[in-house]
Amino acid sequence: MSKVLDGVLAANASYAANFGDKGNLAMPPAAHFAILTCMDARLDPAKYAGLSEGDAHVIRNAGGRASDDAIRSLVISYKLLGTREWFVIHHTNCGMEFFSDELMRSLLASSLETAALDANGFHDVGKGPGSLEGEFIDWLTIRDQAQSVTADVQRIRNHPLVPKSIPIYGYIYDVKTGKLLEVPSATQAGKPT
Ligand SMILES: [Zn+2]
Repeated sequence: MSKVLDGVLAANASYAANFGDKGNLAMPPAAHFAILTCMDARLDPAKYAGLSEGDAHVIRNAGGRASDDAIRSLVISYKLLGTREWFVIHHTNCGMEFFSDELMRSLLASSLETAALDANGFHDVGKGPGSLEGEFIDWLTIRDQAQSVTADVQRIRNHPLVPKSIPIYGYIYDVKTGKLLEVPSATQAGKPT
């Protein structure tokens, strides 16, 4: 068996053995809020925001971007499960800053294997063939974190399915300190009306 699979199943066995009364948790988040954040492995929203099981919705994707699918989840979070405040949290040293749509498309066109990252950026070291399907995806890369947080808060704020009454807060998580730093222009854009 794969070492990863082994490890996950062992960890789960011990988690389930100490599950306590969490089987009685209600489906709607007890703290009534949702976080949209990056999938980066260094970020643990349960820890950086003090969450336990049942507390909040955490929606994650590459960059923590307000993609159509992230907005789908947020709308469900409010409309069906009663969250009333939302956070958009990007972070320093995000991988999404290290490539462009053009680069990702050209890397995928030449090889599907994992690319290498060095001082000059990502480049292919694996064999072909690749695929041109990358041309059809908007990779939602990031050039500037404060700008990306603000743009995402604005997109969510202006979405026709999002009520104006929900405050949306914009933050950057600092991977060097664990601190959440407010992006005032984002929180301003996310103010409820
Ligand atoms: Zn990231």
